[in-house]
Amino acid sequence: MSPVDEEQMLGLKGLREFLRVRTSYDVLPLSFRLIVLDNDLLIKKSLNILVQNGIVSAPLWDSHNSRFAGLLTSTDYINLIQYYCQFPDQVDKVEEFRLSSLRGMTLAPQVPYASVSVGYQNKLKNDRAADVLVLTTDIEKAIGVLPLETVSVHPSEPLYEACSRMLKSRARRIPLIDIDDETNRETIVSVITQYRILKFIAVNTEPHTMLLKRTVREIGLGTYKNLITAKMSDTVLDVINQMVVHNISAVPVVDKNNVVLNVFEAVDVIPCIKSGVYDELTFSVGEALCKRADDFPGIYTCQEDDRLESIFTTLRQSRVHRLVVIDDNWHLKGMISLSDILKYVLFYGEEEYATIA
Ligand code: ADP
Repeated sequence: MSPVDEEQMLGLKGLREFLRVRTSYDVLPLSFRLIVLDNDLLIKKSLNILVQNGIVSAPLWDSHNSRFAGLLTSTDYINLIQYYCQFPDQVDKVEEFRLSSLRGMTLAPQVPYASVSVGYQNKLKNDRAADVLVLTTDIEKAIGVLPLETVSVHPSEPLYEACSRMLKSRARRIPLIDIDDETNRETIVSVITQYRILKFIAVNTEPHTMLLKRTVREIGLGTYKNLITAKMSDTVLDVINQMVVHNISAVPVVDKNNVVLNVFEAVDVIPCIKSGVYDELTFSVGEALCKRADDFPGIYTCQEDDRLESIFTTLRQSRVHRLVVIDDNWHLKGMISLSDILKYVLFYGEEEYATIA
């Protein structure tokens, strides 16, 4: 092993030890607010609450059983949109859906729709009659039934465990659930995200992260093949379809020369549907990006020759949710997600590294 590799492994070992002695409680700020939504709330009202509070997800509470009922995220709204596209004649029903009915919709994306075009509705009716039938039954059944168990972690468990559970379940955030001593009932303490954990690592472990001298190219960090991209003129629905089919949370927007112009993220869907008018989904990506909040931090880029150490410096200093890998002329080369970084930190050199998708 070369001295640089030895240093790199030493850095990783330091980070892993840090994650084993810290807990999710340590990541939480001293004072924070937590918005929890009742599972009986109408979906359209939940959208307004998220937008008004400047948040993109919230834990759900089942007040009938006094239980945590899962996390509401932009993926749920994307599922709803997929449902709406597959059953356009049921738009009135969509308006009446409550949050509790969202969980049953996880089936919807597995019935991919070919493309969103004028002829789509008829094509679906003719070609996919069987799928439609199965789906309708499942969603009807799902309304009013208890949601599935979701991944969560106790706030006092080591942070390493929270990260590992997130990576293995492909969740981008994990709820911290405690049991109240007196009532013996579940309490939602908070939710931690991959973003917050990486920020915590970046801010608190500089002596370790400065040892990570290998470049993005050398460690193969991120995805470089079969990249999914969008054009400014594509519709929001087309991009949503790509995100669902490929299970990704962002799509770089490029011009005809593959030069990166922007990134469309799953959370960009929320402003498009907040008015309840799903017609806005036929808007172009360019129009949808104009709806971003004024404080949108922008997109972050890096190059294949950048060291992991410098990526941690960017994470420390900025609100980074992913990095677009570009060349000197802004041509798209790859995408590095926060899960790619976290997976490398936790598992590189171990058996799990190859097995976690
Ligand atoms: P995260 O899991 O952190 O939310 P993503 O869902 O965007 O991030 O990424 C999941 C995986 O897909 C990662 O390995 C990432 O490198 C890859 N990926 C991200 N965006 C794209 C894209 N546009 N095309 C192909 N692969 C992507």
